[in-house]
Amino acid sequence: DPQLNPNYTFENFIEGDCNRLARSAGFAVAAKPGGTSFNPLMIYGGVGLGKTHLAQAIGNEIKATMPDKLVICVSCEKFCQQFVDSLKNNTINDFVNFYQAMDVIIMDDVHNFAGKDKTQDIFFHIFNHLHQSGKQLIITSDKAPKDLAGLEERLLSRFKWGLSADLTVPDIETRMAILKKKMYQDGIELPEDVIEYVAHNIDNNVRELEGAMVSLLAQSTLNKKEVDLSLAKQMLKNFIKNSNKEISMEYIQKLVCEYFEVPVEMVKSKTRKREIVQARQISMYLAKSHTKTSLKSIGAFFGGRDHSTVIYACQTVEDLIDTDKKFKTYVHDIQKKLKMN
Ligand code: ADP
Ligand code: MG
Repeated sequence: DPQLNPNYTFENFIEGDCNRLARSAGFAVAAKPGGTSFNPLMIYGGVGLGKTHLAQAIGNEIKATMPDKLVICVSCEKFCQQFVDSLKNNTINDFVNFYQAMDVIIMDDVHNFAGKDKTQDIFFHIFNHLHQSGKQLIITSDKAPKDLAGLEERLLSRFKWGLSADLTVPDIETRMAILKKKMYQDGIELPEDVIEYVAHNIDNNVRELEGAMVSLLAQSTLNKKEVDLSLAKQMLKNFIKNSNKEISMEYIQKLVCEYFEVPVEMVKSKTRKREIVQARQISMYLAKSHTKTSLKSIGAFFGGRDHSTVIYACQTVEDLIDTDKKFKTYVHDIQKKLKMN
């Protein structure tokens, strides 16, 4: 099972200036996996701009035209989790062999490799093995290769071997075309002025565009009312209003530990191991800047330390953010994850 979403096809992927290069490169790769200079093909761009859709469209196209090809689509996060599990279960060989047997690997969201040096090592070897055997790699990322500061240089240099193509925010015509395509697929119809209004006002990314349409339809079903422009305006006001959930220290601890692949308990322990100290200090820093907890309580939470330890940790983190580009990326990545919830 290649783990592909069958709806993510080229057919369903509307073309526009925002994706022309990436789309045609993807098409070329799908016709000749491993046989073009686009290896790896790196698709990058912001949240909700169609990276996963396009990458999987390549996989679906290959499966449709060359059913014998072994294709796997895996998110970077899942890959990291599988790696950790295989370490635990002593099945590292099976893990590596599985991926090295593939004809095509689609690895989604490689920016999530940041901070995970062990998993990057393994992927580096799998990458080399496949690339040398003429197999295709397709990767997606939220940043251009040159901006992926949290990744090991040797892996980054591999990512630069092929073609990197970016996805940008679609223009208004493309946004309207996407909305119309979705409506057609779902067998629904909205008035032209509503489509135009939504496409005009939701201009961050395609996911929000779809979200707006779904919520519009849901409201009209609930209220048993036709969707007209005034309902659309009303709805959009609610849609744009975003929720601000509270962030807990438990959640910070969990995110930081996942990010650096360290066991959660260790952060509260006495250990002075470098990677644990780093995770602990960043956790304290984030607790100070993203919660209303006192320094004393933060110290107590992270293993019964006193408030001066917290001050020192925050100072250290701030200094490193200023002087160490890689470190800065770590902290920003984690902050982004924090805010997504
Ligand atoms: P990303 O992986 O970049 O965060 P996704 O691939 O998950 O974004 O896309 C978000 C949603 O927008 C998906 O439902 C996808 O089908 C849709 N989408 C994005 N770009 C297009 C496009 N050009 N045409 C049609 N649908 C698109
Ligand atoms: Mg995605």
